[in-house]
Amino acid sequence: MQFNIITIFPDIFESYFEKAMIKRAQENKIIEIKPVDLRKYTDKNDPHKSIDDTPYGGGAGMVLKIEPIYKALKSIRRKKKSRAILFSAKGKQLKQADLKRLTKYDQLIMICGRYEGVDNRVAEHLADEEISIGNYVLTGGEIPAMVLVDGITRLLPGVLGNIESAEDESFAKKNELEYPQYTKPEEFKAWKVPDVLLSGHHQKIKEWRERQKKKIG
Ligand code: SAM
Repeated sequence: MQFNIITIFPDIFESYFEKAMIKRAQENKIIEIKPVDLRKYTDKNDPHKSIDDTPYGGGAGMVLKIEPIYKALKSIRRKKKSRAILFSAKGKQLKQADLKRLTKYDQLIMICGRYEGVDNRVAEHLADEEISIGNYVLTGGEIPAMVLVDGITRLLPGVLGNIESAEDESFAKKNELEYPQYTKPEEFKAWKVPDVLLSGHHQKIKEWRERQKKKIG
């Protein structure tokens, strides 16, 4: 799976993607992450490499222009099973099921907005879908891009080891959250691990865990 992230801050991702599971997934060639500098796709005659402009109709702030995004998309889109995602606070709210659905693509191109947002023609004509990661406003789409890369990567075959499993996790079944987990010591400041987990009785543990799973929705 290839992730292309169109952004005006291409070096913002380095530290996060060079750690742990995401690093291993890249080393094992399961994923490839390519931040794309939007300024590289500005008008060659523009010495300022402008990626934004004032909004039509007036109002505060600046809006990302469509032309550089169009050019970037055109030069990046390579794979047959490719999908372009625009991050936007007004997009469809991301759910675990969307992460699973997006694992089916070979290439995900993500467009990170900034400032007041992105010329709406990108949503209308260029992006395949518009995703919000929650009902709040962030300064840019880069954190949503990290969320998507992280959440999708751990669902790809060969990324989670045998010991870890995505099947029992929260949201794996539509309306279920995972049971509580504990580790050593058995007691800390008189706060005890539930007795049943120390019993060694597998069936009872299984039943207890089943009862503890929270139902949502
Ligand atoms: N003026 C916009 C509004 O009121 O919806 C907010 C723009 S926000 C400051 C700049 C960019 O951050 C957006 O274009 C989007 O790419 C990203 N962004 C902010 N909040 C987001 C969210 N909850 N989910 C996904 N992307 C978000």
